[in-house]
Amino acid sequence: MSDANERWRPPSQRTKTGSPFVTQEEDREPFSTRPAAERRASATDLLQPIIRVEGITRDYPMGESVVHALRGVDLTIGRGELVALQGRSGSGKTTLLNIIGGLDRPTDGQVTIDGMVVSELPEAGLIELRRHRIGFIFQAFGLIPILTAAENVEVPLRLAQAPVARRDERVRVLLELVGLGERARHRPHELSGGEQQRVAIARALANAPDILLADEPTGQLDSQTGRTIMSLIRALVRSEGVTALVATHDPILISLADRVVTLSDGVIASDDLRGPA
Ligand code: ADP
Ligand code: MG
Repeated sequence: MSDANERWRPPSQRTKTGSPFVTQEEDREPFSTRPAAERRASATDLLQPIIRVEGITRDYPMGESVVHALRGVDLTIGRGELVALQGRSGSGKTTLLNIIGGLDRPTDGQVTIDGMVVSELPEAGLIELRRHRIGFIFQAFGLIPILTAAENVEVPLRLAQAPVARRDERVRVLLELVGLGERARHRPHELSGGEQQRVAIARALANAPDILLADEPTGQLDSQTGRTIMSLIRALVRSEGVTALVATHDPILISLADRVVTLSDGVIASDDLRGPA
């Protein structure tokens, strides 16, 4: 593919293992994020599962004994849902997110993303999945200290070998999207915690993933900043058409979520679908 003929492929238009780029022959629209209304999940989309978790267990051998972090989790998430994953510390939230995102493998059971069995993918397939289909957001932001905000957002674009000519524009659009257009040249230590997390969110969205996985994204923020971040995630799920699974104790996200799943000792204790927000 030549640089000049590529543009971003919205998640809904990608093939299962496809790159986030489409050639001009495939799609002649100018490069842009799609209009919100177009990407917003429709009622039928929500009925299409994008994540299917079946009978997942994860044991961690600890010397003579075994920690059963997940003890048989079944969960189906529809396209465009914002799901809050709550549960006490140690209940298995991080383990579940890592298995869904291909950062860890289950002891037993199967994870399917868009019909692709993640748990059977070879390492190279997992790298592709994490690079193109999934955006991760962590409690500790995980920005690279010596890079500017813009350079941090650009990292996944470089890893995905996005065409150079497209990177600057994509970075600009993403920083605008999270309200940090004016902070592009700041390094993480020159930004507040909330701003750093917004950069991290822009970075997570860089390759236009289908799925956002966030592990306690407001855990290090004060409650007012946490509210801003959660509202941003809520807005992005709508405008960017992503599906989000967010581990959190934060009552604000829990009130904004479409659905609240509670883990307890490695099993799902409750799963509540909310009405339209
Ligand atoms: P949560 O994110 O809900 O706090 P985790 O998924 O981190 O829960 O952990 C679930 C359980 O698995 C806990 O008992 C934890 O101690 C254990 N655990 C998590 N990661 C490891 C590991 N790498 N080695 C051993 N035990 C682990
Ligand atoms: Mg955790």
